[in-house]
Amino acid sequence: MALTLYVDAARFRANQHRILATQPEVVPVAKGNGYGLGNTRLATEARNLGVDTMAVGTYAEIADVTDEFPGSLLVLTPWRSFEAPVEPNPRLIHTIGRVEDLAGLLERDPDARFVLERMTSMLRHGFQPRELREAGDFLRDRPSARFEGVAMHLPMGGASHLSEVQRLMTDAVAAGLPPTTIWVSHLTDPELVQLARSWPDYTIRPRIGTDLWLGDRGAFRVCATVLDVHEVEKGDLFGYRGRTAPKAGTILVVSGGTAHGIGLESPTGANTLKARAGAIARGGMDAAGFVRSPYSIGGKQRLFAEPPHMQASMLFNPQGAPVPAVGDEVDVRVRYTATSFDRVVIA
Ligand SMILES: *Cc1c(COP(=O)(O)O)cnc(C)c1O
Repeated sequence: MALTLYVDAARFRANQHRILATQPEVVPVAKGNGYGLGNTRLATEARNLGVDTMAVGTYAEIADVTDEFPGSLLVLTPWRSFEAPVEPNPRLIHTIGRVEDLAGLLERDPDARFVLERMTSMLRHGFQPRELREAGDFLRDRPSARFEGVAMHLPMGGASHLSEVQRLMTDAVAAGLPPTTIWVSHLTDPELVQLARSWPDYTIRPRIGTDLWLGDRGAFRVCATVLDVHEVEKGDLFGYRGRTAPKAGTILVVSGGTAHGIGLESPTGANTLKARAGAIARGGMDAAGFVRSPYSIGGKQRLFAEPPHMQASMLFNPQGAPVPAVGDEVDVRVRYTATSFDRVVIA
């Protein structure tokens, strides 16, 4: 049985439409595990939103979305000769961050569409000012090249990134790049308004993943299934490591393991010597080396009886606590971007 992500369809889509209403130029981002929902499902959501462009993280992810989403596909990972597709694809918008890659792309496909990525304070990918000017010079000799704008990937949170964007835009102008589109990430709504005001000749397109898909956390519930229930007495053996139960209770085998991204939580309580001494004095389960799990039963977070297995986990349910039945579902707290669900139910 499954680790399931239940999605409240109405809330999930209301959040998407709230973002679309304030950011009509939004470029939905689908990458990695599709923010828990899967890239193919996100492509369908993006199609239903009616946007003309969505973004994927890598060239390998194009296959996940190309059948469901009919529009343009911006690839966020910069083009490199050794991993970009060889066949021209007019739906793709490539990201270019080096002059040699611009030359390489256009040599392979003179009609290729591309954005030039300007390096930001993240120091991930992109042109420095001098290189951007070189790219501008290169493009001046190729007026038919399909330049589709300047891309910037900004850090998250912290102080406003607006002044940084303004500075980086000055470099784009200095490079002689024609005003087209500015593709940005992680700017707030007021910052995007300001940016549009400063650069009225440009279209500002925010690339949004997390807020678009996971913006309303109340729309999601993650459940595991109870696969087996075993009563134990103090001293009974269990598990891969032949541990003994430190007291009477129930071992629950639940769906979800390392293959799903279920991991160990930090130990219970404050992880100080004093707290640990207190726990040992009380004879607590954490003193016996049991660690907190992300599973909750009847609203109470339970301990792993041993580290998660590949597809299932063993929990310890203390005596006296309500015991779920085989087939019951229990709540699990996970990071959506790091979890592979067996099922996603949008209803
Ligand atoms: C992942 C990513 C985004 C979207 O980020 P979220 O925080 O999920 O909205 C935007 N731009 C780039 C380049 C990215 O890699």
